[in-house]
Amino acid sequence: RIAADDGNEGKAINSFLALSKDRALAQAAKIDALAAKGKELPALAGVPVGIKDVLTMQGAPATAGSLILKGYLPPYDATAVTKLEAAGAVLLGKLNCDEFAMGSSNENSAYGPVLNPRALDRVPGGSSGGSAAAVAAGFAVATLGTDTGGSIRQPAAFCGVVGVLPTYGRVSRYGLIAFASSLDRVGPFTNNVKDAATVLQVLAGRDVMDETSSDRPVGDYIGALQKPVEGLRIGVPKEYFGEGLDPEIRAAIERVLDGLKEEKCVIKPISLPHTKYAIPTYYVLATAEASSNLSRFDGVRFGLRDAEAKTLSAMYRKTRDAGFGPEVKRRILLGTYGLSAGYYDAYYKKAQQVRALLTRDFLTAFNEVDVIVGPMTPTPAFKLGEKTDDPVAMYLADIYSVAASLAGICGVSVPCGETKDGLPIGVQVMGRHFDEGTMLRVGLAVE
Ligand code: GLN
Repeated sequence: RIAADDGNEGKAINSFLALSKDRALAQAAKIDALAAKGKELPALAGVPVGIKDVLTMQGAPATAGSLILKGYLPPYDATAVTKLEAAGAVLLGKLNCDEFAMGSSNENSAYGPVLNPRALDRVPGGSSGGSAAAVAAGFAVATLGTDTGGSIRQPAAFCGVVGVLPTYGRVSRYGLIAFASSLDRVGPFTNNVKDAATVLQVLAGRDVMDETSSDRPVGDYIGALQKPVEGLRIGVPKEYFGEGLDPEIRAAIERVLDGLKEEKCVIKPISLPHTKYAIPTYYVLATAEASSNLSRFDGVRFGLRDAEAKTLSAMYRKTRDAGFGPEVKRRILLGTYGLSAGYYDAYYKKAQQVRALLTRDFLTAFNEVDVIVGPMTPTPAFKLGEKTDDPVAMYLADIYSVAASLAGICGVSVPCGETKDGLPIGVQVMGRHFDEGTMLRVGLAVE
């Protein structure tokens, strides 16, 4: 299916950048052998999965959607990859994404855009566009993506699949090519909430290779889905229903809330007063961290190296100039500026302070409600090319996703209908830190 459909002229979804056929066949044979012996099979036995290209798979190209990593073959597996395979999953290969996960449409990939399988003239969202599209197109039953400021939840909403942002620290980042380390998270895309709970159960937990991974016990996510939602308090933030929200999406979210009311949830209007600062705060902090993380790509250690330069500094400059795309360069410049002496206090430090206020908004709200429900995106999937000339318009598309990212809380996007043009709509359920169970329980109820 992937060979026939993913790269075909006209129908090119372009979700896979590399296939790991040998590894997949070896794993499938191993699972077959276990089954033949009548052995008990692990949770994901034989489940075909794909991996966003910012995560490493030993010996498979890892480009992060960038030319600068062309030819780089990582010598180890990311922990999330190891865990999936240990649970029986069959690893199909690496999935297209925005360069270094910077983007909201997958149009920043050096390897071409991914098309939305639900509407081929539309973007799949980003940055994990390939991961969302591969599930929506039926190439994989589950995929891994990463979410720094919405990159799992937003493409899930655009492609009509489920996407989970686990709490910061719940899933190991070992083997993830870093974009903004204080925000980056690894999580699954699936067709439904039950599958999401099953995959998250496998991924979650402490990893000695990632000091920011938490040693809090992992919840029973599959068990949580058995419990009714009756009595749960659902917060509805007024700031998420303002100007710019597409009327069809607003109507769909209102239907979801009506449904929860019917299931005897308590619907409570709440306020997250600093929401309007979330996008500028995110773009100051994420670019600052990116400018630091991306300094390691200097032509010495990984991938591309300019062969003509006569001096070391010319080699650095030429390699980075040829290897990084325009959005990545824009962010390195922005981030370096925000961290420079004289500007640090006004930008980076200020943004850190606002981040604390945004986090407090959520902690205060969670004193009164169990989960927060709202739209995932202000509009459905937009047309390819529609926002490529206007980076600020592209950043504004992240309005409902970045606050949860800054606060470290968990979130899930669940399909909740479609527009009259047949474009998927996603509802976002946000949960307390490490309360993925309740979040998924509500996700199941609204599915
Ligand atoms: N769209 C956001 C950005 O461009 C989020 C990206 C992400 O979550 N990786 O930074």
